[in-house]
Amino acid sequence: MKQLWAPWRLAFIEQVSHGSGCIFCEKPANHQDGKTFILWRGRHAFVLMNIYPYNNGHLLIAPYRHIGALEDLPETVLLDMLRLVQRSIKAIRKAYAPEGFNIGVNQGKVAGAGIEHHVHLHVVPRWGADTNFMPLLGETRVLPQHLRASYTRLKAAFNSNVARPRPRLVSPARPGRAKAGPFPGVSRRRPRPTRSSRRR
Ligand SMILES: [Zn+2]
Repeated sequence: MKQLWAPWRLAFIEQVSHGSGCIFCEKPANHQDGKTFILWRGRHAFVLMNIYPYNNGHLLIAPYRHIGALEDLPETVLLDMLRLVQRSIKAIRKAYAPEGFNIGVNQGKVAGAGIEHHVHLHVVPRWGADTNFMPLLGETRVLPQHLRASYTRLKAAFNSNVARPRPRLVSPARPGRAKAGPFPGVSRRRPRPTRSSRRR
């Protein structure tokens, strides 16, 4: 486990200590999602790219509220975060076709949390051979143009996974148009009013 989360930590901690506040509060408040690598905004939480990734496609999911511990999150926020995990998995799968995922939380500094006061989930795509070379790359900052290319690719995958409204099986009936329904024996025609309903 230590090996899994260690590579990006140094650079990440460095970035945090140089900044003035909490990146998980500042980035969504800036409303410059392209610049801050925010991929998707949910109702209570959002998805952004880890700019010091363990792997290509390493995403972070954080609530908008500045809360440090998972156990303090309201249920609605937790649920939204898990929904975003699902959405992230689908998008990463579409963009990078990984063989597996690590999904987890580092809570507290000893557990490897780079930012310990604002809880966040990691979604890390995995490939069979990645553990062999990633520790070498871990302390190398990913080039901005690579991040930009990954962002474009992931953003397209997120957008394409938006659920479209399901087509209705039977169109709403319109008076005066008595076409055959989509299924044999099913008519779109509205039933004629009966005597009793006419009186009302
Ligand atoms: Zn925060």
